[in-house]
Amino acid sequence: MKVGFIGLGIMGNPMAKNLLSAGYEVVVYDVIKENVDKLLEAGTKAGVSSKAVAEECKIIITMLPNSPHVKTVIMGEEGVLEGAKEGTIIIDMSSIAPLASQELYKACTEKGVKMIDAPVSGGEPKAIDGTLSIMVGGDKEVFDEVYDILMVMGASAVYCGESGAGNTTKLANQVIVALNIAAVSEAFMLSTKAGVDPIKVFDAIKGGLAGSTVMNAKVPMITEGNFKPGFKIDLHIKDLNNALETGHEVGAHLPLTASVMEMLQVLHADGYGQNDHSGIAQYYEKITGTTIRK
Ligand code: NAD
Repeated sequence: MKVGFIGLGIMGNPMAKNLLSAGYEVVVYDVIKENVDKLLEAGTKAGVSSKAVAEECKIIITMLPNSPHVKTVIMGEEGVLEGAKEGTIIIDMSSIAPLASQELYKACTEKGVKMIDAPVSGGEPKAIDGTLSIMVGGDKEVFDEVYDILMVMGASAVYCGESGAGNTTKLANQVIVALNIAAVSEAFMLSTKAGVDPIKVFDAIKGGLAGSTVMNAKVPMITEGNFKPGFKIDLHIKDLNNALETGHEVGAHLPLTASVMEMLQVLHADGYGQNDHSGIAQYYEKITGTTIRK
């Protein structure tokens, strides 16, 4: 079966490769030519536009930065809806605002095109391994129809509810991850300033109640001073912005999210926006003049 894949960055590249390895014919498109070329080497075919990809494929996956990019690719000029036939399925795996997902779902439905929001958690390593956690909003029968494709890229795919529910779930995920990295950074700065080796602290507490997937993934990066992305600070700013906006709309108060957002804004202003979000530790390093290193 032919699957279209639009958005071939840190995540889209390995996800498209996994579809290829599973035997799907993959037609790709990205505005950055180098990113298309990397996938051509792996054996995919290139489309000349999002519209052209949609003309060729019944299933189209998008993996783009944020709501405006997904709207351009799906509803814009030379976009997916210009090329899609009735019955086409769009799986948007980008992390975007739930309200934007609902707007896109409506525009697709009016054209007889099916759409689900299916953002992911797990980052680049799990995108490479095909073990992402996938959270889905939209029509249940569409989820069932594409379940096997989702499971090529993920270790789990959970139906969360109507259109937008996947991205609401992802916002909850992103709040927890950001606050967890900030908590880890704050605690490890405390122990570093008090003179205890951060590696000893990590070894001592990772198996206890404070241990977490975030701690296991990010402490080794922090103690090595390796902030290569991974998941970029600028993308986490985007997610927390969507979380704060959604929180204001639905009457949920997010004081801790707002605090971590300010740390991310400082890092962005200092030119660290393209660093991995484990770089939240660099906020603490900057204000204390101390680094958390082994
Ligand atoms: P990225 O910036 O590496 O890749 C995005 C790609 O989209 C780029 O190649 C870019 O050129 C392309 N693009 C942008 N506008 C386009 C357009 N109009 N037409 C075609 N292509 C276009 O980002 P990423 O890290 O791969 O993240 C993609 C999405 O996945 C984001 O929503 C992000 O929040 C989410 N996500 C990322 C991670 C991670 O660890 N990187 C983890 C989970 C979820």
